[in-house]
Amino acid sequence: MPEIIKKIRPISDYLPSGSFPLIISGPCSAESEEQVLETARELAKLPQVVAFRCGLWKPRTRPGDFEGRGEEGMEWLKKAKLETGLPVAVEVALPQHIELCLKNDIDILWIGSRTVVNPFSVHEIAEVLKGVDIPVLVKNPVNPDLLLWIGALERLYQQGIRKLAAVHRGFSAYNSKPFRNLPIWEIPIELRRLLPGLPVLADPSHISGNRKMLPHVAQTAINLSFDGLMIESHIHPEKALTDRNQQVSPRELEILIGNLDLPKKGKEERTEDLGFRIEDLRSRIDELDEEILDLMASRMEIVRKIGAQKKELGMDTLQLERWRQVVEDRLKKGTSKGLSRHFLMKLLHAIHEESLRIQ
Ligand code: PEP
Ligand code: MN
Repeated sequence: MPEIIKKIRPISDYLPSGSFPLIISGPCSAESEEQVLETARELAKLPQVVAFRCGLWKPRTRPGDFEGRGEEGMEWLKKAKLETGLPVAVEVALPQHIELCLKNDIDILWIGSRTVVNPFSVHEIAEVLKGVDIPVLVKNPVNPDLLLWIGALERLYQQGIRKLAAVHRGFSAYNSKPFRNLPIWEIPIELRRLLPGLPVLADPSHISGNRKMLPHVAQTAINLSFDGLMIESHIHPEKALTDRNQQVSPRELEILIGNLDLPKKGKEERTEDLGFRIEDLRSRIDELDEEILDLMASRMEIVRKIGAQKKELGMDTLQLERWRQVVEDRLKKGTSKGLSRHFLMKLLHAIHEESLRIQ
């Protein structure tokens, strides 16, 4: 297990505990003093919002798009913090961004997806942060590369950052519809499995890319027990200079939060009866998993034997016609047992890939 998990601080150490779920919200970009202050004032009224996020330097796909107000926005953020008491989070990509944030008492830094892809950039950022006690949120890299994400967290950890959290904002893909960025939830789940102490938030705004999908993605993150949500909010979303389609007004955010189906509070209050039932079901699952593993091992043993015969007969490893029949047959049988086509395809592909590797 990576060394990193040992000393990561829980998010409750540095963010005030609001009402569940924990939400970091604010505009994609600071655009004007008025926009920043009005948005912050409204968001501060929501008990779930525990920090105000705001981009000052915007990494844009094309030059000439609005690239953020930069240092000018610092004064607006200071005012927002003073007025609302909310800690303020800013995206940093370069050493000079960090210097300005530290000079201006920014409370939380985050590293954006386009920066996390580049180990040189992350290394440089980590060096500047050496010995600084500030929370750093690390978004996933734009490409679905779990180790690159972990690597960025490790680089910061090595420089002494202990208030670390990850933010899942989805992965860029040629065809990501209906999302802006594919969620591929398995990746952040695997991250949480590997680094159990690491707080992981979800960013439904950048996953969705539009207001319509936002509630659904936020609900999925809640169902998967993420530690919190980062959601973009703008006082007038329709006039936003960046990410216009995905930002919601503070009022819309309030409605979204109100509509979330939250897990029942107070686990300990649940009847022992239920606890026992879950225990029983889990041990049944353990038994079934064991059977599946035994069956899989037997299957691979036969695959190995077939491989040896194919070699003797001079046959190719990949027999497309046979594979076609297997897929067709297993899909038919599996779907009639209530298993989804999507799951069956993934399972069959995984088995086939391993079989080819063995042969
Ligand atoms: C943002 O949070 O506004 C942003 C630029 O996000 P990402 O790095 O996830 O694209
Ligand atoms: Mn944005």
